[in-house]
Amino acid sequence: MAEEVVSKNFIEEIIERDLAEGKVRKVVTRFPPEPNGYLHIGHAKSILLNYGLAEKYGGQFNLRFDDTNPTKEKTEFVESIEADVRWLGAEFEDRIFFASNYFDQMYEGAITLIKKGKAYVCDLSAEEIREYRGTLTEPGKNSPYRDRSIEENLDLFERMKNGEFPDGSKVLRAKIDMASPNINMRDPVIYRIARMTHHNTGDKWCIYPMYDFAHPIEDAVEGVTHSICTLEFEDHRPLYNWVVQEIGFENPPQQIEFAKLYLENIVTGKRYIKKLVEQGIVDGWDDPRLVTIAALRRRGFTPASIKRFMELSGVSKANSTSDYAMLEYCLRDDLKLKKKRLMAVLEPLKLVIDNYPEGEVEWLDAPNNLENEELGTRKVPFGRELYIDRPDFMVEPPKKYYRLFPGNEVRLMNAYFVTCVGYETDENGVVTVVHCTYDPETKSGSGFEGRKVKGTIHWVEASHAVPAEFRLYENLVDEEKGVYDPETGEVNVNPNSLTILQGYVEDSLRGTTEVEQYQFVRNGFFCLDCKDATEEKPVFNRIVSLKSSFKLPNA
Ligand code: ATP
Ligand code: MG
Repeated sequence: MAEEVVSKNFIEEIIERDLAEGKVRKVVTRFPPEPNGYLHIGHAKSILLNYGLAEKYGGQFNLRFDDTNPTKEKTEFVESIEADVRWLGAEFEDRIFFASNYFDQMYEGAITLIKKGKAYVCDLSAEEIREYRGTLTEPGKNSPYRDRSIEENLDLFERMKNGEFPDGSKVLRAKIDMASPNINMRDPVIYRIARMTHHNTGDKWCIYPMYDFAHPIEDAVEGVTHSICTLEFEDHRPLYNWVVQEIGFENPPQQIEFAKLYLENIVTGKRYIKKLVEQGIVDGWDDPRLVTIAALRRRGFTPASIKRFMELSGVSKANSTSDYAMLEYCLRDDLKLKKKRLMAVLEPLKLVIDNYPEGEVEWLDAPNNLENEELGTRKVPFGRELYIDRPDFMVEPPKKYYRLFPGNEVRLMNAYFVTCVGYETDENGVVTVVHCTYDPETKSGSGFEGRKVKGTIHWVEASHAVPAEFRLYENLVDEEKGVYDPETGEVNVNPNSLTILQGYVEDSLRGTTEVEQYQFVRNGFFCLDCKDATEEKPVFNRIVSLKSSFKLPNA
């Protein structure tokens, strides 16, 4: 496919202007996840955007765990996030940081504000603070503690740190403007007392900084130049700027917001994914039906396909939803020339070639990918008994059915022409065996170019067939009902989201344990499951089927 001309996104325009004006010399970006769950495809957008900008402008990209909120954070999440970012190809080398390592600087920053008369200790309860804050249409009221002296504030804040006051009894607030039209600027809380054990700092602190105070400091300490976040933080930008300016950072970072990635009819959002995991509706954070990065990887998506998807979905200031089918398109496009096309039978039906010598097996040459000769050829066994896929045979075919039916001739892929001469059924009328005869003159690869047949079907020779499990997926969401039930807020789960089939793959996959993608002809792209496959029994996840009605926008 031709490379499309991609115009610059608005963030690139800002960066290029900053570089041209000399405002920024080296671009520094970061990805700042909160380690409270696994990353999902939305985070992949942020990762690839931040990494891509640093790479494009010869800058630096940091991975920083935003672990200032000690309740929810877990080491399991830290490890999975690091692995996911690496897998996506966003290189951060040893620049892996933890916001909690800056707690001292944050504390110092708070002291600086107090000394400037820009922060005060407030004894109002959380509820009172809310009442005093006002509304969108009404200004707030000053706290009665707002005019405490600098000395008193310094003393109280230190004692907060030393654990002299109970949780929730006091907070430190920025002293900005209770009448500001922006509610975030109405003396926001910047420190709270909370006796919680932190995964990194243990019990060293009993006061913790609030996100809006901590985040700009984290960026500034690391020398981040462009702090890219999603739109919900737009109204927080004045506070972000206030914090870095009042604390006095030189060359402060600038916050730039872009629209989150949303996928039509797909569960994104950590909160919801977490619930599905906890309720056992899916089999863990990496269940291939999810769009966590771990799940996409397990299912068989490639970093290149995800990257391409992000390029096609663009970066903008306007919220919109992207189409999952576009991600599937990107995967097919990435794999179609790179991966072997092998034969696998997902719903086996025995086929017997009555006139083929009993006990004989011949090894036929089969190209690995007709569109890419570099992938070479392999040998596939052929014999009297084969398995074909059940949908490839019909007793009473509809019009335009060109596969096997009584009296019809088809090509067995990479092998001979066969004609159906009969079939057997069980007591319920279900077909159990199809009988054919073959024409030895029609061996493919022997230069045969005689009569034409309309149908070609795939098969696996029975005595060499490797039993395999195939997992086919549909959207986890019941698309007719929409993602969420408006009454309960629960996800509308599609009961058919997983189908497990027991079938066969060809001998060339015997014993494989390599996590690798294949095209199984006519059935789609599959990937060996990294968790459940064994040497004896491979398990394959279907990544996508081959057919799609998806068209590239503007194509
Ligand atoms: P969620 O809303 O799914 O819980 P989050 O925003 O709370 O995600 P964080 O760990 O706080 O998750 O986010 C890390 C970074 O990823 C932030 O910069 C955030 O803006 C970005 N991010 C999260 N979701 C998306 C999304 N859907 N599209 C683009 N960026 C996202
Ligand atoms: Mg969050």
